[in-house]
Amino acid sequence: MVELKTDTSIDAMREAGRVVAQALAAARKHAAVGVSLLELDEVAHQVLRDAGATSPFLGYRPSFATTPFPAVLCTSVNDAIVHGIPTKYRLRDGDLVSIDFGARLDGWVGDSAVSFTVGTPRPADLTLVETAERALAAGIAAAVVGNRIGDIAHAVGTVCRAGGYGVPQDFGGHGVGRQMHEDPSVPNEGRPGRGMPLRHGMVLAIEPMLIGGGTDGYHEASDGWTLCTNDGSRAAHAEHTVAITDAGPRILTAL
Ligand code: MG
Ligand code: MG
Repeated sequence: MVELKTDTSIDAMREAGRVVAQALAAARKHAAVGVSLLELDEVAHQVLRDAGATSPFLGYRPSFATTPFPAVLCTSVNDAIVHGIPTKYRLRDGDLVSIDFGARLDGWVGDSAVSFTVGTPRPADLTLVETAERALAAGIAAAVVGNRIGDIAHAVGTVCRAGGYGVPQDFGGHGVGRQMHEDPSVPNEGRPGRGMPLRHGMVLAIEPMLIGGGTDGYHEASDGWTLCTNDGSRAAHAEHTVAITDAGPRILTAL
């Protein structure tokens, strides 16, 4: 069931989203060659503590997971697409990193992700990240009253495919509210004009995931969480929590 949020609730979700944006910005700023993924997790965790917020990621155990998620930040490097667990791994020159973060503040959740390169970037990675951001922007632009879920999915998928990239089929966006994952699901590919109509008060996480090699296949790593590309190519991920309003889409996880 889709829960429509009141304007007051959306304002409260914006405050949770602001914490997410601050944590992602701090972790990104800290990321550099030689810095470990666990350090990035700690930087993000400190932002949570300072804000009096908690983590919807830490201890999270959805049906597909055999163990609870052990960190507040997902760190997915190179061929990892999403759900990477922070480890002692130290970032290397040219790595492509995706970080995904959530915060719960006053009972409301925000969820956002960003991808970037560390050190000297590979040109292909810059194009991949730029396309992920454009796919996200296209999805947000389609998140308007009168459209349907399929219009968001179509907008996202069209940008990804036009770039020649693969799109993992079983993971995508979702409703957000008091829970991190609520109805409806927001696929990263779909047919325009199909699916649930978008209404004022719906809050959605829109999150394109792109596989650089152009194939869609992925597998779960031995840690039981990290999803990696089957072709070994690099992946990018971008995400914002967005409220659909009569005045247009409102990004809740911007700085
Ligand atoms: Mg996320
Ligand atoms: Mg999400």
